[in-house]
Amino acid sequence: MTESASPALASSMAIEDAAVLFRKAQRVVVLTGAGISTPSGIPDFRSEGSGLWSRDEPMEVASLNTFRTAPERFFNWFQPLAGQIFNAQPNAAHFALAEFENSGHLQTIITQNIDALHQKAGSKHVVEMHGTLRTVSCTNCFKQFESAPFLQPYIEAGKIPQCLSCNGILKPDVILFGEQLPQAAWVEAQRAAQRCDLMLVAGSSLEVLPVAGLPMQALDRGAHLIILNNTPTYLNVRADVVIMDDVAATLPEIAKRVLHG
Ligand SMILES: [Zn+2]
Repeated sequence: MTESASPALASSMAIEDAAVLFRKAQRVVVLTGAGISTPSGIPDFRSEGSGLWSRDEPMEVASLNTFRTAPERFFNWFQPLAGQIFNAQPNAAHFALAEFENSGHLQTIITQNIDALHQKAGSKHVVEMHGTLRTVSCTNCFKQFESAPFLQPYIEAGKIPQCLSCNGILKPDVILFGEQLPQAAWVEAQRAAQRCDLMLVAGSSLEVLPVAGLPMQALDRGAHLIILNNTPTYLNVRADVVIMDDVAATLPEIAKRVLHG
């Protein structure tokens, strides 16, 4: 790239470079974070300035400890976010990844998101590192339910979800601060990272451990790395291609070149 290249041209060259890596790859793993869902209207509650951070300290209120000791505080804080997530629709980036998977260009999506937008877009093999809002589990008898019938009255009227069998409080199956990552998902994510020959990071700033370490595991096994994110990450220096732009704009462009020439 020369210094006189315009930003648009530089970005277009990077998109072509990413498409070339996709065409050559045999085993592709994609790691997605909050940035892929912000174009769908879901705020990144972990980042400052999202509004949710300033109202309450999420690491405190969205912690397992708060949920156990004062669940109504958690449910109060989570109510607007739950509404945004529940009503969100996948965007062009989610659909591009589903298209990659359905055409055999992508094996596994590892996501830090709890919004199930990948599944709504048609992706099938999704490893959810931080759990999901699609189901809730009883904190008393551990029975699991589809969350939709409970979320509606909670989102609209603040009704705390309660178990149909024992009246215990239902906890969304999302991983709270202070809670262990789901072991099976973590094992599967590491295996996928170590076996891939191309990892694409889409909309993650790679700040939340241990998931942020997965691209490093891929690099250590000789995989190529593409990073699409609107802010820098600690691995930009080691990536083959870096595109610092809106993932909902760039990912469909890459898919178009790979899938439709
Ligand atoms: Zn119960």
